[in-house]
Amino acid sequence: MQLQMAQLQAERQFDSSVHANPSKATTALANRAAALGAHIFEGHEVKHVAEQNKGFHVITSKGSFQCGKLVIAAGAWAPAVGRQLGLDIPVVPVKGQMWATTPQPPGVIKRVIYAAESHSFWAQKCTTDYALGSPANVTHDAHTKQKLVRHVYGRQCRDGRIIFGGDRVVCDASDYKIDQDGIRLNQEHIAELLPVVKGLEVETTWSGIMPFSMDGKPHLGPVKCMQGVYVATGFSSSGFMLGPMAGVMLANTILGKHDDILASAEPCRPGPGGIRLLVASSARLPSKL
Ligand SMILES: Cc1cc2nc3c(=O)[nH]c(=O)nc-3n(C[C@H](O)[C@H](O)[C@H](O)COP(=O)(O)OP(=O)(O)OC[C@H]3O[C@@H](n4cnc5c(N)ncnc54)[C@H](O)[C@@H]3O)c2cc1C
Repeated sequence: MQLQMAQLQAERQFDSSVHANPSKATTALANRAAALGAHIFEGHEVKHVAEQNKGFHVITSKGSFQCGKLVIAAGAWAPAVGRQLGLDIPVVPVKGQMWATTPQPPGVIKRVIYAAESHSFWAQKCTTDYALGSPANVTHDAHTKQKLVRHVYGRQCRDGRIIFGGDRVVCDASDYKIDQDGIRLNQEHIAELLPVVKGLEVETTWSGIMPFSMDGKPHLGPVKCMQGVYVATGFSSSGFMLGPMAGVMLANTILGKHDDILASAEPCRPGPGGIRLLVASSARLPSKL
């Protein structure tokens, strides 16, 4: 009975969900933006950014740029960029990992599956601790790395592969190492809900670093304490879903058409989620550039 309830909860949640391939979708968006006139510079690592002449001077590994308005959209690396401007952007790197089976017959899993037990846990137990660098909605304790809750979601792809994942572990922003125990436990978890997945060969695993905010909400809009600076980060585990519309809304804001719906993503909100100045603006040193 418990199992059936869990399965119902899992399957009910995403009855009408859709999915897309992140790599193909991102490339398509970039190509369309370029066709509309955007300039995309790949492999330009921002090395230094500073305020200069009522604007900003950005030095990258492949050249320098001047701009009047600056958008920090560097995911889990946004805090490092922000620090150069004297901003404390409370975003923490969190590792997510996934696994994929060999291709299976179509229709083994018909929709996106998302287990409910982690969401119940996060709704009841706030795990945020800014001083300790522990954001909301993670699966492991930020310091002991002990598992707090199981989380699983996934789907079957068009090519038949079944992909699942779920662990969210606070880590160093360069730590992409796969935790094989985590993969095994995640597979066992989904097999409880969907026995058809039990024992299927895992063909591939992969990981990535997500930008988790302290309070689970994104940072999207102008940084009120520093004129000309905008942020788009803190998307946590939902940036693929939220990213395209976040881009539209941020572009509109920059053009002066701010949407009130962005209030909950206010970058300088009160509480542990808000962006702050590291030092008062009057005390900031002039740019060395
Ligand atoms: C395994 C996994 C599964 C996920 N599943 C989902 C899902 O099902 N649905 C969903 O909505 N989201 C999902 N996510 C989360 C989603 O990928 C993130 O929320 C999203 O990528 C965040 O977007 P972003 O643009 O803020 O950051 P990123 O995608 O991390 O992009 C930041 C970019 O900034 C660049 N950068 C950093 N520092 C510098 C610098 N100094 N100079 C120049 N460039 C810099 C980085 O190289 C990177 O390209 C998943 C993530 C992982 C890891």
